[in-house]
Amino acid sequence: MIKPISITVAFAVVVSLFFGTPAQCGSPKVNKHESNQKHIRVPHVHSVNWKKKTKKYWKKKLTSKQFYVCRNAGTEMSFTGKHLRNKKPGVFVCSSCGHVLFDAKTKFKSGTGWPSFYDVYKKRDSVKVHIDKSYGMVRVEVVCGRCNAHLGHVFRDGPRPTGLRYCINSVCLGHRPYSYAKKYEAFLKKKRANMASSRKPAPRSKSK
Ligand SMILES: [Zn+2]
Repeated sequence: MIKPISITVAFAVVVSLFFGTPAQCGSPKVNKHESNQKHIRVPHVHSVNWKKKTKKYWKKKLTSKQFYVCRNAGTEMSFTGKHLRNKKPGVFVCSSCGHVLFDAKTKFKSGTGWPSFYDVYKKRDSVKVHIDKSYGMVRVEVVCGRCNAHLGHVFRDGPRPTGLRYCINSVCLGHRPYSYAKKYEAFLKKKRANMASSRKPAPRSKSK
């Protein structure tokens, strides 16, 4: 299994090998008939270990298109995604687990045919990146920071202030209002606090 590495290292490798990578998200494409499928509802946030979910679980939970793209690192056809022209304010979440990934404020028109963002919602937690050497290319794959769903790739030809372009498949995204992100953050804060308190050693009894 490839371990997540820092985005800086990932880019250093990619830029050195593939300076001027073509504007694309990836190779194989799903067929036209599947591109019109409805997005499933984003599951409610609850305390589960998403990383331990099996392929069997995801196959049952997701549409065939979502399973192909999000769980098998596929790519939806360009200019077919539901969120390509979505300009509504709010946040974009993982369609597999509901994790908050991108703020709509960072979405921009890239002309590539896939939803594009110049930054992630939270630098540390929203997404993870891996070097992806599939299909004879060296790219930086972006996956959900919570459930490891494949989301797309990130390139260094985005606009300011980051210069990054997160090229993301619509089928891997859901759209939610900002109130969702607020509740989600409160949930995570509570979860972290519970975990921290459960890790604290029990107070020692005084012995003489
Ligand atoms: Zn996820």
